[in-house]
Amino acid sequence: MNPGRWALAAVVALGVVGCSEDEPTAEPDTGRSASPTASPESSSAPPSGPVQTREPVETETTPVAPDPPRFDKDAALRTIRRLAGRIGPREAASPEFERAAEWVTDRFARLGYDVDRERIRVPAGVSWGIPVDAGHTWNIIAPTADLQPGDPYRIVGAHLDTVPQAPGAEDNASGISVLLELARLAAATPPRLPVVFVAFGGEEPRGDGDDDHHFGSSAYVEAMSGRQRRSLDAMVSMDRVGVGAVVPVCSGGLEPPTVRRSLLRTAGRLDIPAEPCANQASDHWSFDKAGLPAARVGGTSYAEYHSAADRPGVPQPRQLARVGRLMWEWLGGGRS
Ligand SMILES: [Zn+2]
Repeated sequence: MNPGRWALAAVVALGVVGCSEDEPTAEPDTGRSASPTASPESSSAPPSGPVQTREPVETETTPVAPDPPRFDKDAALRTIRRLAGRIGPREAASPEFERAAEWVTDRFARLGYDVDRERIRVPAGVSWGIPVDAGHTWNIIAPTADLQPGDPYRIVGAHLDTVPQAPGAEDNASGISVLLELARLAAATPPRLPVVFVAFGGEEPRGDGDDDHHFGSSAYVEAMSGRQRRSLDAMVSMDRVGVGAVVPVCSGGLEPPTVRRSLLRTAGRLDIPAEPCANQASDHWSFDKAGLPAARVGGTSYAEYHSAADRPGVPQPRQLARVGRLMWEWLGGGRS
């Protein structure tokens, strides 16, 4: 894949697949015009009517700084209802995945991101007991506007696909819901380092081997240039982040667990219950295998896993908010 893909305009990439009625409305050149600090109504206008000679009262003219934007769990729940409720199961090469991909692309574009899409071949196989055809899937890539080639940056990802039988509310509409919230916050308040947000396709298995899953993230890593690899500060995969009261933070086991450590430090500072773990079952593994610093957030066991019962209602707003807060603080959120 072309290493200059980050620079591709959304309109080019969208044109490849866009065919639905709610076509994304990305304006590639609008940049990040959304005003994060929606200026508070000024009350300093001179009084109208009869001329008054008194000075305006000072206390009434001091603008109040708007609250910094916060994680919105209701918005996260709406994302989960859209993906797992209205769209439903979205196996990587299915039309439903394409619908989900278009919807996520549109969400990023409306936040002001220049969205790129990366097309990936996936093989035929068996996914969680169900035969699946060969086809193609997509990574949806949304970098913050301050990303400059060669500067340190982070990748925050979540997989968008599901196994064929599951609507995937927890696995992994939950991760996508936090991803979109973080992208919204980052559009308003730049994180400490530029971030590339990625909704990965083809994470779920199509066979039993280590080469039979994580197709989107593997292709993403393969396409990274030497410079993009060297300047990657950290990658985090958010995968199943809506159940339980403790946040699992896992490393893949090959590279030193620096990203895990840094996330756990942030959790400690915020008093968010978190536990270290080792795990190779998500997209962070593609990065770890390539010698890149990566971790997974999420992965608590739950009864509805990979079943038709993984519906909206399974992910809990409090856990989504915990993960959202942890990730936003870790990204620097303009505060630390
Ligand atoms: Zn998953």
